[in-house]
Amino acid sequence: MSKMDRRSFLRFGGLCVLGLGVLSGAEVLAEKQLKAAPASPALVGKKWAMVIDMKKCWEAGKGECRDCILACHRAHNVPDIANPKEEVKWIWTEPYEEVFLDQKQEYTAEGIQGKPFLVLCNHCDNPPCARVCPTKATFKREDGIVMMDYHRCIGCRFCMAACPFGARSFNFRDPRPLLPKLNPDFPTREMGVVEKCNFCAERLEAGALPLCVEACRQGALVFGDLEDGNSEVRTILRSRFTMRRRPELGTGPNVYYAI
Ligand code: SF4
Ligand code: SF4
Repeated sequence: MSKMDRRSFLRFGGLCVLGLGVLSGAEVLAEKQLKAAPASPALVGKKWAMVIDMKKCWEAGKGECRDCILACHRAHNVPDIANPKEEVKWIWTEPYEEVFLDQKQEYTAEGIQGKPFLVLCNHCDNPPCARVCPTKATFKREDGIVMMDYHRCIGCRFCMAACPFGARSFNFRDPRPLLPKLNPDFPTREMGVVEKCNFCAERLEAGALPLCVEACRQGALVFGDLEDGNSEVRTILRSRFTMRRRPELGTGPNVYYAI
């Protein structure tokens, strides 16, 4: 599953060449980031978390967040599927009212109504997705990252039903022919497999921050160790008002939104 056969690889190569002439600015940036191969000691944390500074997101990027989404999806071989019923997403945006369903009310401040919020897997402290997986294809690491072993996924979708955040996608079809460009350094998936954000575990291993953090030109995404009192994430949490999604459910999300 993780390796492509020669014929598929050549076909992708051809598609890539065809696509080179029409790269947008964000796509060029995503290309560059893929090529900047990090080679430092692994980043080690006790409890990884992300803070998304929504003011920075909205100020400069108008909340479209195209750079970080594109960089993530290209690096992780996430296919482009237009049909929303079959699309595969690791990171994307949704309006405030959808992201914070429990906060929905008539008198929400105008500045926030309908505003796009970046969403991804929350790498929950108590992930229901991992609890219900019958094959342990989803599991939680010591450093808090909720990982997937695609080879163990049998496509039962129990994890999708259990995740209250819609953070998981199912491959209704073979995603490989739908990749705009193959990243040969990251595994591809196949039909019938679930996938989601992995907090860029492969990059942490190589001493680099998650790609979305690096790709965001506004510096709106901050990643760090919650157990380290001097980390940037802890500094922001001390000084800014932050929200998490559906805290009342007790899953313990580790993605924070600074408003
Ligand atoms: S956000 Fe969903 S997929 Fe991610 S760890 Fe929490 S329950 Fe699991
Ligand atoms: S942490 Fe990595 S996998 Fe997760 S959304 Fe960001 S770039 Fe994608």
